[in-house]
Amino acid sequence: MEIFFLGTGAGMPAKLRNVTSIAFKLLEERGAVWLFDAGEATQHQILHTSIKPRRIEKVFITHLHGDHIYGLPGLLSSRSFQGGESEVTVYGPKGIKEYIHVSLSLSQTYLKYPLTVIEIDEGVIFEDEQFAVEVRLLEHGIPSYGYRIVEKDRPGTLLADKLMEAGVQPGPIFRNIKNGETVTLEDGRVLEPGEFVGPDQKGRVVAILGDTRYCENALLLAQDADLLIHEATFSKGEEKLAHDYFHSTTHQAADIALQAGSKKLCLTHISSRYDRNAWRELVDEAQEVFPNTEIAEDFKEINIPLK
Ligand SMILES: [Zn+2]
Ligand SMILES: [Zn+2]
Repeated sequence: MEIFFLGTGAGMPAKLRNVTSIAFKLLEERGAVWLFDAGEATQHQILHTSIKPRRIEKVFITHLHGDHIYGLPGLLSSRSFQGGESEVTVYGPKGIKEYIHVSLSLSQTYLKYPLTVIEIDEGVIFEDEQFAVEVRLLEHGIPSYGYRIVEKDRPGTLLADKLMEAGVQPGPIFRNIKNGETVTLEDGRVLEPGEFVGPDQKGRVVAILGDTRYCENALLLAQDADLLIHEATFSKGEEKLAHDYFHSTTHQAADIALQAGSKKLCLTHISSRYDRNAWRELVDEAQEVFPNTEIAEDFKEINIPLK
C-alpha cells in the first residue's frame, strides 16, 4: 500500500509541480491502482512511472475545478489504447457524469472497457470485503469532498507449525481453524481457533482531502488516520488569503492532523509562489504543530506499512 504523488501543485501546471493527481497503489492488496483526481497531463506524469493505466480500477474526483479534472478524459481514452479492458468506476461530485459524457461523446471517443460514473453524496460510497470508502463535504468555493479509505481488519495467519506439533496434518482441519471454528479431534481433544491463529491484522486508514478551508469535516475524515493528505496552498500567516480563496495554510493542515490524532501528515496542493527553497520552510511551519509532517513532491512515494 503506497501513495504516489503524480501532481502536487495548486491551480495551474508549473515546472516544479504539476496539478493534482494522487495514485493510491494497492498492487499487493488487490492488484489495482486507485487514482485521486486527474489534473491536466496526469497521463504524461504516469508515463514516467511504473504505473500501468490498465491497473486503474477506480478514480475518485474531489471536486470539479479544472486543476483536478482536466486530465481525466484523456487518461480514460488512452487507457483503451493501452489494452485496458477491465471496468473503471469514477466517483465524483454532481456534474462529473456530464463532464465525462460530453468530453467523450463530442470527441467521438469509444472506450473498449465498461465505465461507470457515480455521482457521490456524503456517506459510504464504496464497500467490499477489503475496503470501505467514506466521503464528507469540505469547505471550498464549489462542492469539494474528502475521502477516508478504511482497510478492514484481516484475520491473523494460521500457526501451521503449532498445529502440526499438536499432531494435526494440513487439510480440512487447517481450513476450519482458519475460518475461526472450534474443532474436536477424533481422540476427543478440542482445538480452539484462538490458540492456532495469530492476532488480527489491523487495517490501515488513509484520508485524502480535496481543496478546503480549515473545517470540522476534515477532522472527522482524518480521525486516527495512518496518513492524512491535506492541502496547504499557503504558508502560515496567510490565513486571510487562505480563507478568501477557500484554501488552507500549513498550520491549519497540521492542526487538523494534530486534533484528529493522525499518525502522519503529508502537505500537498502547494502554490507555485513557493519555490524549491521555500518548501523546507513550509514543512518547518507545519512541524511546529505536528512533527510527523512531510511535503509532497511530484513522483514522491509514501509507504503505508502494516501495523
Ligand atoms: Zn485545486
Ligand atoms: Zn479547488
